[in-house]
Amino acid sequence: MAPFPYAIVPANDDEKFMLEALKQAWKAFENGEVPVGAILVHKSKIIARGNNQVEALKDATAHAEMLCLTSGEAALENWRLTNCTLYSTIEPCSMCAGALLLTRATTLVWGAPDVRHGANGSWIDLFAQKHPTHQIEIRKGVLEQPCAELMRTFFQKRRKNDL
Ligand SMILES: [Zn+2]
Repeated sequence: MAPFPYAIVPANDDEKFMLEALKQAWKAFENGEVPVGAILVHKSKIIARGNNQVEALKDATAHAEMLCLTSGEAALENWRLTNCTLYSTIEPCSMCAGALLLTRATTLVWGAPDVRHGANGSWIDLFAQKHPTHQIEIRKGVLEQPCAELMRTFFQKRRKNDL
C-alpha cells in the first residue's frame, strides 16, 4: 500500500478522529474501492474502523459506516451505541443514516458532502425531521478538503482507466 498522502496536523479532537477515518478511506482507495472511511469513538476511544468494501465483498451495503457500526457493536457487545460518535469522511447515505439512527449513536461527524447519495441535506435529509425517540447531534465539514479531494482523485482515475 502506498503511504498515506496527506500531511495533516489536527487542530482539535474532531480533526484527530477524522484523520483516522481518512486513513481508512485511503485504504479503500488503495484497494480500488470508492474511498470512504469511518471510525467509531466511544468515550474518546476508537473502538472500530471501517473502509468501503463494496467491490471486495460484492455487496452494495458494505459501506464503511455499516462495517464500522457492526464492528463497534461487536466491540461493545451491545447494539446500542450510546455515547458513541461515528466519524465518516463522506456524508452518509440513507442506508447508513438509517442504521445510525437504529444504533442510537449520540453523534455523527462527517467530512465532505455526497451530492448523489448524501442523506444529510445533499440529496435528502433524513435528520431534518425530529425523530420521535432519538436525536443525533451532527457536525459536518470536518477535514472537508482532503476527504473530498480523495474522492475526486478516485473518480478522475477511474474515468481515465475507462477510456
Ligand atoms: Zn452508506
